[in-house]
Formats: sequence, structure tokens, C-alpha cells
Amino acid sequence: MGEDARRKSDGQQVKIGTCESMYYLRFDQRGDVDYRWPALTDSTEKLDPFLYRFPDPKEDGTLPGDYDGAWGGIKLSVDGFWSQFEPGAVDHGSIQVHGHDGYHFNCPCPEGNPDMYVTKYDGTKPHVFRNGGTTNVVINAQRWYAGRLVLVVQCAACQRSIRLAELKDVQGILDHLKKYADGHRWEAEKGWNLGGPGTAPHILEQLKANELKKAAYWDEVAARIIAGYNQTA
Ligand SMILES: [Zn+2]
Repeated sequence: MGEDARRKSDGQQVKIGTCESMYYLRFDQRGDVDYRWPALTDSTEKLDPFLYRFPDPKEDGTLPGDYDGAWGGIKLSVDGFWSQFEPGAVDHGSIQVHGHDGYHFNCPCPEGNPDMYVTKYDGTKPHVFRNGGTTNVVINAQRWYAGRLVLVVQCAACQRSIRLAELKDVQGILDHLKKYADGHRWEAEKGWNLGGPGTAPHILEQLKANELKKAAYWDEVAARIIAGYNQTA
């Protein structure tokens, strides 16, 4: 069911989400539309009903209702991200695999159940491997929980949205974002190969500035994740 609301800036009726997924509105944009938002609570028993779009810096300046497609999504390949959680602590779903002639297989998500799969096919146990993709976690939303705005990510394999209740749960993601940012800073400062040999100085300056811009982007994504956990109602 679509959720519509009146946008205060221009009086337009806009779609802000579907059921509990506020795809087209950030948490800090709740006041920009007329909508009966429930009061926020610090209780760990009561979960705010809504997921809000993650404030991707690339989408800054977008009005509620004007965001593209469902969740935006910042795709990451964070080594060992899912295996940091105790078995069963994170509610992964299943993936469906199709065989010939109508055969279908529902398999437990390999990211949540690595022990059920072998890494080399032995003729008896299910084998999982990847051919192409490297994304394993997608940043897409935030949710009010226990008095803070926690990150909601999607598992790239089973597509389940998973709430990361504690700041420590996102540490792997934060470390990863820092690595991205540091890599771009390093390119800007020491990347003597930027643009290849013989690159004109003014082009080189531009390439360095681009690298610094990318570094600032990843720093800002990390800062916004942390800010959510430090937020109070
Ligand atoms: Zn999964």
C-alpha cells in the first residue's frame, strides 16, 4: 500500500513510501511533510514502524517524494561482514535456485549459513561460489530503535533487510569506508600514476581533486552512520 503525504514546501501530494518502507523520505525530512508520525520512543520493546531512506550524500538536496526507485543503496564488499555475527543472531532469508525442467531449490542464505555449504564441490554437499559480483552488503535505510537511529542494511544474497542495533555491529562497515576514503586520499597525495605519464599539470590537479572528493564522500557516509547512533529523540 502506498503512503502519500502533502509536501509542505510546495503543497504537492507525494508518495513517501510503501507500507513501512519510507523509500522516498529521510528520517530528518519527516517534518517536511504532513503525516501522522508516531512519537519516537527509547523503549527496546517498541520498534518504530518505519524504515527511512539512508541519507546518501549523493542525494542531498532531493525533496521528499522525489528520490529515484525504491531504496538507493550503497553497495559494499566487506570481507567477513556476516560471519561476525553468532549463528542465528541475524535473520537471513533464503535464496531460490532454478534447475532444468521446473526444478526449484530453496536454500538457506549462504551468507548466514556458511557451514551448510562447501567451498569445493565434493559430490555430496551443496557448493556455493560466486562468478562476478562482489557486493555482500548494501546500505539502504535507517530505523528508529531503542532511542537511536540505527543502520539497516540488505544482505546481497538473500535481500533481507537487517537492522544493526549497536554501533559495534557496523564497525566492519566503518572500517571499510575508511579504507575506501584512505585509498582515494593516497591516490590524491601519492598517486604518481594518476592520468598516466605525461598528464598535463592542470589535468593532474583535477584528477587529484576528484580523488579528494571521493574520499570526502566515503568519510561523510561513515559520519552519517555514526551520527544516527548518537542521535536522541
Ligand atoms: Zn542473507
